[in-house]
Amino acid sequence: MLTGFGVDPARFGAGRAVTSPITGGRIGAVADSEAPAVEAAIARASTAFAAWRLVPAPRRGELVRLLGEELRAAKSGLGRLVTLEVGKVPSEGEGEVQEMIDICDFAVGLSRQLQGLAIPSERPDHRMMEQWHPAGVVGIVTAFNFPVAVWSWNAALALVCGDPVIWKPSEKTPLTALAVQALFERAAARFGGVPDGLSQVVTGGREVGQMLVDDARVAVLSATGSTRMGKAVGERVARRFGRCILELGGNNASIVAPSADLDLAVRAIAFGAMGTAGQRCTTLRRLIVHASVYDALVPRLAKVYRTVSVGNPLPGDVLVGPLVDAAAGEAMTRALDAARALGATVTGGDIVTVPGAEAACYRRPALVEMPEQAGPMLEETFAPILYVVKYQDFAEAIALQNGVAQGLSSSIFSTDMRETEGFLSAAGSDCGIANVNMGTSGAEIGGAFGGEKETGGGRESGSDAWKGYMRRQTSAINFGRSLPLAQGVRFDV
Ligand code: NAD
Repeated sequence: MLTGFGVDPARFGAGRAVTSPITGGRIGAVADSEAPAVEAAIARASTAFAAWRLVPAPRRGELVRLLGEELRAAKSGLGRLVTLEVGKVPSEGEGEVQEMIDICDFAVGLSRQLQGLAIPSERPDHRMMEQWHPAGVVGIVTAFNFPVAVWSWNAALALVCGDPVIWKPSEKTPLTALAVQALFERAAARFGGVPDGLSQVVTGGREVGQMLVDDARVAVLSATGSTRMGKAVGERVARRFGRCILELGGNNASIVAPSADLDLAVRAIAFGAMGTAGQRCTTLRRLIVHASVYDALVPRLAKVYRTVSVGNPLPGDVLVGPLVDAAAGEAMTRALDAARALGATVTGGDIVTVPGAEAACYRRPALVEMPEQAGPMLEETFAPILYVVKYQDFAEAIALQNGVAQGLSSSIFSTDMRETEGFLSAAGSDCGIANVNMGTSGAEIGGAFGGEKETGGGRESGSDAWKGYMRRQTSAINFGRSLPLAQGVRFDV
């Protein structure tokens, strides 16, 4: 499977088993990287940094342009591998690769726009400026659910910014990581003269991630995954004064206001809540519905939940594939039981049996009508559960939307300008992403991606997220013959 990508056979075949969520069966094995191998990878990356930071940024962009070309050529094969390893439906598997291509294009343009500032100085015959320099080695720890796109959000920017990258993919998805690394190596061979160790993959679980976390030579540690992981990583990196970019869990909500276009809302809610089987960080998990439209909306949603196609994603005719593993199914059951104990009405949520996939975990998405926002609704359960509560007035809706520990994505369905602008105002949604008349998921790479509170505060991808991969330098230059001091200070010796 991986030889088609040109992966060195020594890197797979033995070690930790990799299973496909589609059947629950083994599709490969990849050995964990031992401590000396991780140490050597960090040493190689440090040496690569000394050379790569001197390559002009637009030239570094050329390498990322070639990587984008390799990804275009491999789009359907890599997309299929994402489907096999994560269980996403094929259009989402390929969509993830398209996202990689898009961020490469973005980074190529960015490689000519890593601009600093010219700052007016208060001192005569002085000039001030701000420059951005490469930060150093970037460690990238990624989650299973976007096994390749998250690497590219980080790596495409880091590479044009002058930083080598070391990737520790999820232990559930090392195959796609090895395939992407092989594509990088093809691009590097075409570029010529890429320093050894500019992009590397180390494999294994949290212990391997921790080696990157604890090593002071890793200047920036970008970690995507659960809030529990982020707390552990954030504390350890802070202890050595390293820099972290944390992209953690979400508990995303949409508000459906009285003036909402319900036809549009039903489609957006269905994709946001059930797409990727509820396993996106931006998955819609909470729906806050005005009492006046509740009976027009919720029964329509319940019908969709009863009929949506669930099953093996490979033939391409289902919308909801499997959960990643049995533990995810158990977490879903626990959350639904806890909701029922609070008086919730649950539509769906049952186990779906797929012939030939008895070891896999297929679940019908669950629509959970809650008496109030409480219990499991306050947590992120990484499964297709949509909790619904009623609200009476707009201020209450905003309070419910913001009333959880996470702050990733949010949206409002409304055609009332006062509500939509209020939602986007400083007193509105407290999330890193706030959308209007669309769902919470499906972000484009042009915007900065990330969220507040327990989502970790990091930003990746578009806008000025590139600054997270560089260090800022402020310079004052005296081109006169005297030495005036700032703030009128006198010091005549
Ligand atoms: P996870 O936290 O179990 O694992 C994520 C990665 O962190 C894995 O590579 C894992 O090996 C590593 N890891 C775990 N503990 C570690 C530690 N102490 N030190 C170093 N590395 C450690 O998450 P998961 O189950 O793979 O992914 C699902 C979670 O990721 C959800 O909470 C989801 O919301 C979140 N997520 C967030 C974003 C975002 O951009 N905000 C994107 C995708 C997924």
